[in-house]
Amino acid sequence: MLAMFGGTFDPIHNAHLTVAREAHKALGGELRMVPAQVPPHRDQPVASPEQRLAMLKLAVADHPGLGVDEREIQRSGPSYSFDTLCELRREVGAASPLVLVLGADAFAHFDSWFRWRDIFKVAHVLVLTRPRAPSRGSWTNDLEGYVRPRIVARATMLRQRAAGMIASLGVTPMLVSASDIRAKLAAGESVESLLPKPVLAYIEQHKLYR
Ligand code: ATP
Repeated sequence: MLAMFGGTFDPIHNAHLTVAREAHKALGGELRMVPAQVPPHRDQPVASPEQRLAMLKLAVADHPGLGVDEREIQRSGPSYSFDTLCELRREVGAASPLVLVLGADAFAHFDSWFRWRDIFKVAHVLVLTRPRAPSRGSWTNDLEGYVRPRIVARATMLRQRAAGMIASLGVTPMLVSASDIRAKLAAGESVESLLPKPVLAYIEQHKLYR
């Protein structure tokens, strides 16, 4: 079982780590955080790819089972999860379960992702609950119709096949977001409780998000 948790991680924060640990606990195997170099679906990150990668490495250092995968940072052009999942599929072989993990806010727009239907041919999807994320009622008919026959009741059921299913996982509700943290840092407010200590030290050392 290999899981990929993609994002901009600008910067990685405690909610990312908490929900990643909870997803990893539910799935088993290995969970890799995959920072996007050029995120196709959103504004450009503030910190450089190298800085976001360095903060991720500091953050996961003492979390067994969590890792960092640098391939999207090394690749040029937009970071499509589909491309990354195809590479990971080749790495794990045809029979091993592969899971794309993402928050419910990101999943609400999943049908705008590059080759989103094909993602289910190479991987499962695990959607993590997130406070204030759009509810299922906001999904387009296209997304709802494609997803409905693929839903399974529990994350553990994703271990039974290599790809093609989707589950939701209720994780600790945390309101913290990277944009909030950037705004607080820009305003000179304390973010000590929202980030791992080594990440905060890195931000201060490199004068990021001022
Ligand atoms: P921003 O505020 O800049 O949008 P973010 O905090 O959402 O950033 P991202 O790097 O965009 O961070 O998120 C990476 C992944 O983590 C996404 O799939 C997102 O849905 C998920 N995620 C982030 N924060 C939470 C949270 N509090 N609960 C559940 N999932 C989360």
